[in-house]
Amino acid sequence: MYTMRPAEFDYHRPTSLDEALSLIGEEARPLAGGHSLIPLLKFRLSTPAALVDLAGVPGLGEISANGGLTIGALATHREVAESDAVRSACPVLAEAAGLIGDPQVRNRGTLGGSIAHADPAADYPTLLKALGATVSVAGPNGTREIAADDFFVGIFTTALNPDELVTSVSVPARATGTGAAYVKHHHPASRFAVAGVAAVVTVEGGNCTAARITVGGVTASPTHASSAADSLVGGPVSDEAIAAAAAKVPESLESPTTDAYASGEYRVHLAEVLAARALAKAFERAA
Ligand code: FAD
Repeated sequence: MYTMRPAEFDYHRPTSLDEALSLIGEEARPLAGGHSLIPLLKFRLSTPAALVDLAGVPGLGEISANGGLTIGALATHREVAESDAVRSACPVLAEAAGLIGDPQVRNRGTLGGSIAHADPAADYPTLLKALGATVSVAGPNGTREIAADDFFVGIFTTALNPDELVTSVSVPARATGTGAAYVKHHHPASRFAVAGVAAVVTVEGGNCTAARITVGGVTASPTHASSAADSLVGGPVSDEAIAAAAAKVPESLESPTTDAYASGEYRVHLAEVLAARALAKAFERAA
């Protein structure tokens, strides 16, 4: 019978990273904000033997800016949105964090939990791929760095091994003349992205010298719209160039998701419209 009660599990609250790493595995899953994990437990879609609560592990929520930006896995969306360091080093990330869910979700949900969960409709994965971020991971054999491009593997699937934890995410320093924007069409109830587009552009002497457009919510994991971005590079910045690039975005979106809320066709259309908006905003900021 459907009860909304999780199956029984043991609860651990380690006080160091090493202790946490000694506990986690296939059957003992890390718990951060619980905003995705607890519903999965209640629906019994996940029935781990134990939860390993990361809240007592020191240092996992720290945010530091030193040219680039490093954000600890346990930093909540609210902390990211309100952090002076994030606002100054990577304002678009603070802005995107402020668009996640509602105040309760932003107060509990964490950066590490969001990216480890890898919901195709989540906001951070799209933006982190566009920004060329790196995910720092710790496991029984030490630490490793995974480019965001390699981290998000598919729907609810990442490059993490079951015995590894995300410890932080780093975003490189912005090159001079770089602007970034993230825009989404949110689901009216959850505010998850039905489609979301991140654009990062660099402008020198009125010409676009680098561009990245990344689309989330439409495919199983965030997708770079590479032909669209490439069409901008080397040319002058103009409304026409933005419209032409946005029109090329659908070329990169294979097997778009259809669900009860939106068809794949509609999601692709949204991606094109949102790409034009994100690019216009990013170019404005680059100037
Ligand atoms: P948890 O639920 O604790 O964990 C999620 C998964 O990640 C679990 O599998 C857990 O084992 C694993 N995990 C957690 N931390 C780590 C770690 N450090 N290393 C390895 N694995 C780890 N998100 C959006 O992007 N945009 C939205 O608009 C949005 N709206 C939402 C609305 C509602 C009503 C709800 C409930 C959620 C919404 N979310 C949205 C998701 C939310 O942002 C949470 O961040 C996300 O659910 C997971 O973060 P968490 O900290 O709660 O992780």
